[in-house]
Amino acid sequence: MSAAVIDGKEFAATLRARIADYAATFEQSAGRKAGLAVVLVGEDPASQVYVKSKGKQTVECGMASFEHKLPADTAEADLLAVIERLNNDPAVDGILVQLPLPPHMDEQKVIAAINPDKDVDGFHTTSVGRLWTGLEGFVPCTPYGCIMLLKDQLGSLSGLDAVVIGRSNIVGKPMAALLLAESCTVTIAHSRTRDLAEVVRRADIVVAAVGRPEMVKGSWIKPGATVIDVGINRLPPAEGESKGRLVGDVDYAEAAAVAGAITPVPGGVGPMTIAVLLRNALVAAHRNAGVALADGAL
Ligand code: NAD
Repeated sequence: MSAAVIDGKEFAATLRARIADYAATFEQSAGRKAGLAVVLVGEDPASQVYVKSKGKQTVECGMASFEHKLPADTAEADLLAVIERLNNDPAVDGILVQLPLPPHMDEQKVIAAINPDKDVDGFHTTSVGRLWTGLEGFVPCTPYGCIMLLKDQLGSLSGLDAVVIGRSNIVGKPMAALLLAESCTVTIAHSRTRDLAEVVRRADIVVAAVGRPEMVKGSWIKPGATVIDVGINRLPPAEGESKGRLVGDVDYAEAAAVAGAITPVPGGVGPMTIAVLLRNALVAAHRNAGVALADGAL
């Protein structure tokens, strides 16, 4: 068997086109653009790349992008003051504070300062509570992107056995909550799980969010299962290469020979994250401006 390849790059492009259409309609109804503010503290190179990419895609989708770049030695109180201003700015619908923050800042305190109605990253404890209790709120972008890909691939997920490997607040736990909300029977596996291979073998859906290159082997996968690989790992460069290959947490070649469908790395889950961020910002804009958005439109 050779698995169907779940093309996240293509799916994300289609989603962005839909977002652009709805952003234009929103602008007509609200008399202003939907707005996303991104706050970056310091000069972490990976964060700078993400922030640039987020700003560019926000504008390409017809939304307003507000970038706040603060020096690495900014006092926590000054960052909190910026967040407070953004909370009160009616042109700003979504606020994202790029993580990680410099070590002198308390990440939880900073996230807690964001108005939950503008928390497009879904990291505020109010957003987490809303997710687990089935209330309307914002869901972290990467797991929401995974659930969109899964529903597109499989239709109803009801009754399926799902195994999430990884229990982080950013991916593993919200992923489990989303699968549960889709009526899957969910197992969360982690670094202390006994006989992970055996646990994974039961799964109709495997979501790997570990950060260990090619850890999940083909022999662990139930034939026909759907495999979502969230991991992004760079291998050491092979001889003659300037930088190493990007691989996921799943041994792609082995798993693709057994699975029914699988996301590649790169080009699977990765491109979904920013697309969902824009989706969350536009949903926030509709809610904040009191403009109706049809159920399931985004
Ligand atoms: P994390 O380090 O916060 O969490 C990793 C989890 O894996 C932990 O809960 C741990 O219990 C589990 N784990 C570690 N070793 C294990 C083992 N041997 N067996 C089973 N479980 C084990 O990482 P994260 O932030 O959740 O990210 C996970 C991966 O997803 C990383 O590769 C990261 O780069 C990637 N990621 C990708 C995107 C994206 O595609 N946009 C977004 C976020 C994270």
